[in-house]
Amino acid sequence: MDEPSQRDDTMDGAAVTACCTRCDALVESRSQVVNGDGPSDADVLFIGEAPGATEDDTGVPFVGRSGDVLDDELATAGLAREDVRITNCVRCRPPDNRDPHSEELANCRSHLVAEVDSVDPAVIVTLGKVPSEHVLERSVAVTGEAGSVERVSLGGTTRDVVVCLHPAATLYDASQRPAFRETIEQAATMAGADGGQARLGDY
Ligand code: URA
Repeated sequence: MDEPSQRDDTMDGAAVTACCTRCDALVESRSQVVNGDGPSDADVLFIGEAPGATEDDTGVPFVGRSGDVLDDELATAGLAREDVRITNCVRCRPPDNRDPHSEELANCRSHLVAEVDSVDPAVIVTLGKVPSEHVLERSVAVTGEAGSVERVSLGGTTRDVVVCLHPAATLYDASQRPAFRETIEQAATMAGADGGQARLGDY
């Protein structure tokens, strides 16, 4: 097992070493560690579940079909992908895209907390059930709670966390798309971008 402090601080203070071996099954299933992507001082930090096949191939989070949905709704909210930080609860692709196990979530948690500390975002958006429950540390009914904001202590600092549907949910059920859009717009507004005049990068 690696020590929790094992990180590559030459990148941006929030990157995990490429040879992390905390989770045996994920070491087997991954091609590479997928670290967070985006500005190291972003105002909005999106947290997804775990890399999928495209992310595992490219080393970048949310670049598959879910990423396209997220990019589209960021644009609708007046944000570019380059304005926000995107990361995952677990940085290695689980076998057959299964949900990460609770032990894997726990193993990767210090990486996530270190990234949150380092980026220090104004708003955190949890994309889907697994990240929402992992960050809020309670059960979450995402469809009913989408758009709700909770103050959460993460790494000793209290953060505003917005519960959001996972973008993939809008691919399975297009009727969820407006709720997803509204939550992204809400997060942009909370972070100071109004979707019209300004982008986060302007602040
Ligand atoms: N891609 C990611 O990076 N994370 C997810 O949760 C889903 C797709």
